Amino acid sequence: MKQSSSNYFSLLIILLIIILSFTVCDNITAVQFISPSSSSSSATYFPSGVSNHHHTINITQKTTPPPPRPPPLLKAGAGDLEEILQLATKPKTVDWIKSVRRRIHQNPELAFEEYETSGLIRGELDELEISYKYPLAKTGIRAWVGTGGPPFVALRADMDALPIQEAGDWEYKSKNDGKMHACGHDAHVAMLLGATKILKSREHLLKGTVILLFQPAEEKGNGAKKMIADGALQDVEAIFAVHVSHQSPSGTIGSRSGPLLAGCGFFRAVISAATPDLVDGRQLRRADTVLAASAAVISLQGIVSREANPLDSQVVSVTLVDGGNQFSIVPEDVVIAGTFRAFSDMQKLLRRIDEVIKEQVKVFRCSATLDFFEKEYTIYPPTMNDDRMHEHVKNVAIDLLGPEKFKIVPPVMGAEDFSFYSEKIPAAFYYIGIKNEELGSIHSVHSPHFFIDEDMLPTGAAMHAAIAERYLNEHG
Ligand SMILES: [Zn+2]
Ligand SMILES: [Zn+2]
Repeated sequence: MKQSSSNYFSLLIILLIIILSFTVCDNITAVQFISPSSSSSSATYFPSGVSNHHHTINITQKTTPPPPRPPPLLKAGAGDLEEILQLATKPKTVDWIKSVRRRIHQNPELAFEEYETSGLIRGELDELEISYKYPLAKTGIRAWVGTGGPPFVALRADMDALPIQEAGDWEYKSKNDGKMHACGHDAHVAMLLGATKILKSREHLLKGTVILLFQPAEEKGNGAKKMIADGALQDVEAIFAVHVSHQSPSGTIGSRSGPLLAGCGFFRAVISAATPDLVDGRQLRRADTVLAASAAVISLQGIVSREANPLDSQVVSVTLVDGGNQFSIVPEDVVIAGTFRAFSDMQKLLRRIDEVIKEQVKVFRCSATLDFFEKEYTIYPPTMNDDRMHEHVKNVAIDLLGPEKFKIVPPVMGAEDFSFYSEKIPAAFYYIGIKNEELGSIHSVHSPHFFIDEDMLPTGAAMHAAIAERYLNEHG
């Protein structure tokens, strides 16, 4: 009995020690999980999928069978993204987005002439009961959805077509001779209107304001610049835009952090014979403007090949030579013109083109006057994706469409006037694939055969809407 009573006492002590040790262990583990920056409810101290009752469950395991493990917590906003995708892929919405794109495709308008395109967009905005300001930059529109207060995040689409005759034959081909939506800006407008419709139906959930920019004249370069001058970015703290790409399978997303597209400029030089010199009272032969122009063209090649850092991509191309039309007469003037592209220091490249042409033609007793169209075309800066904004696009694409639908793409020497926005505020530009070999949508933008797989349009609308809504959730 004594023994048994002493055994009973020891058992009690052991039980007490076990209970105490579990309590201490639980506290230590909980302290390790607490983040110093967290301040709200205890649930936020734990990474998703980890319950703060985890250790209590271990203790009760001693006496009762473990309850079923709770399902892992959904990543914040995942349900919202699912709803956005469902809204975008409703058959009625899909038909409407496609019809918008087809109506614009049939009636392409060139830079700063997008009156009917702009009218069509405003008609749809009116139907959706969306407020907007018009005009900005002649035909542009600035619409908004949300609380009307900060934060403000912008989505942009361009509206202009190209002076190209559409080569393909299909039901909704261009009705305007010599004009074509060969850069997919019709699809950009349709996707942004699709996003507007989705965001309007979720307006009560938005924690700020989404600004929707419909911009003219991307192909001419100063549409974006004029939109900014007319207040497009007022109060806006971040901006996003998408461009179609024939290089990626339909509906897939591609982008990169940092430099994505080059800066771009144009030059035109008029090379003229200098006044003939008199030597010993005898007039020298007139200068040869063709020889001077040829030497200038050759010398320009040395800028990229011999002066630029080989790791910093640059292009200087002469794309036009115009001088004379006779077999036996040297022309008075020869015009050479072309483009230059770079990811850094466009002004330095511009200065060298100016110097090389002027100095080189002097060797042949000619002179040159140069025009860089700074007023008309404006030199585009490179398109740089902000690290955080790129990360945001990447995360939305992966959470909305799956990791296999997103890829990092290399920078290219093409240019985009979206760079004027990205120069002002944090921005990200990304691509959406339109390639579908069965449909024949395999041609590059600016080709008369350019064609898109319209089935990617709802994906683009959902991407736009999800990017904006999640941005406001995270910054509102
Ligand atoms: Zn283009
Ligand atoms: Zn374009």
